[in-house]
Amino acid sequence: MNVILEEGPLSTIAEKVLADERIDESEALQLYECRDLNALGTLADICNNRKNRRRVSYILNRYINYSNYCILSCAFCSFARKKRNADGFQLSTEEIATIAEQAVQQGITELHIVGGLHPSLPFSYYTDMLHALKNAAPGMSLKCFTAIEILHLAWLSKQSVIDTLKELRAAGLNSITGGGAEIFRNEVRRRIARGKESAEEYLDVHRIWHQMGERSTCTMLYGHVENLADRVDHLRQLRELQDETGGFTGFVPLAYQPENNTIPVTVPPTGVDSMKTIAVSRIYLDNFDHITAYWIGLGVKSAQVALDYGADDLHGTIQEEKIFHMAGADSPQERTKNEMIQAIEETNRVPVQRNTFYEPLTLHGSSSQKQTSDEESSAVSPGNKKQEKAFI
Ligand code: SF4
Repeated sequence: MNVILEEGPLSTIAEKVLADERIDESEALQLYECRDLNALGTLADICNNRKNRRRVSYILNRYINYSNYCILSCAFCSFARKKRNADGFQLSTEEIATIAEQAVQQGITELHIVGGLHPSLPFSYYTDMLHALKNAAPGMSLKCFTAIEILHLAWLSKQSVIDTLKELRAAGLNSITGGGAEIFRNEVRRRIARGKESAEEYLDVHRIWHQMGERSTCTMLYGHVENLADRVDHLRQLRELQDETGGFTGFVPLAYQPENNTIPVTVPPTGVDSMKTIAVSRIYLDNFDHITAYWIGLGVKSAQVALDYGADDLHGTIQEEKIFHMAGADSPQERTKNEMIQAIEETNRVPVQRNTFYEPLTLHGSSSQKQTSDEESSAVSPGNKKQEKAFI
């Protein structure tokens, strides 16, 4: 018998989850505080298997940071630089287009492009960059800019957010990134990201993008000065917007990295904390199809384990990650396609190469397609039902 079911109220929550009913915020908090990590993981795994069976997706993507100059100084940020700093940089549109041409040769399907809030680049730099990328790599999916960058670009272009997004889309933007959410609650936000956009502004940028018929991802930076209730409040706001628009393709929890910044937290979140965060997210965010184990922040090994705690996506090959590594992440800078596939297969799950919108491009069957379909069918019925019964 699992401890989770011996602790009175938790058995009620488990029964709701098994009955595919929505849990509320106080129940999510109780799950977070639950001491039986494996029971929590089993519940989250059941929720994940209902949605994704044994499939785990990854994407062939490449990160590009066009610049790290930023007019803000978020306390948690180790990436931003001022013009006076020797290690500040900014790429020309030609340099970015050259990277895109190389990415095409490598079979990359998505460029993930973000930067700081640059103090002097004009709005035309961003539209020129998108045009240049579409010329250099016509079929490439361009996932660019966080919500705060969109607000910065709206300010630069002296347009509303919707008109700015329309102009960026016309120039080639396919999707916006989920970065910049941090923790929504004001008290926390003031401590770690003073001057950054409010939670309402972040959500509003995504709302408008979704209302334009487009999709985006969303994130939560956890493991710094926030408490568990702050995290649940963050998840609540994401779930509410998803109820309203249905425009989020997936949720990406980001483990805080403590180096080279001014936050008085010196260690990253523990493995237990990260597995709980993945599991509670999977159970609570019942209107999200996908939860990502972001291996850059978790490390590859923990990201593999997270696939048993509710995650169904391993993000991408990435190639040149700067933001987390400047903050102390000790994961590799990139993974090859074969390494992504191997990492997933080692967990006895089925790797699926996806596109930006989590649509499958290639279903890999290591032994045979029969094994794949057997694994998948066992995940939705008898094995999984057995798993649910054992849990009750
Ligand atoms: S987190 Fe983003 S907005 Fe904040 S300082 Fe860093 S680059 Fe600038």
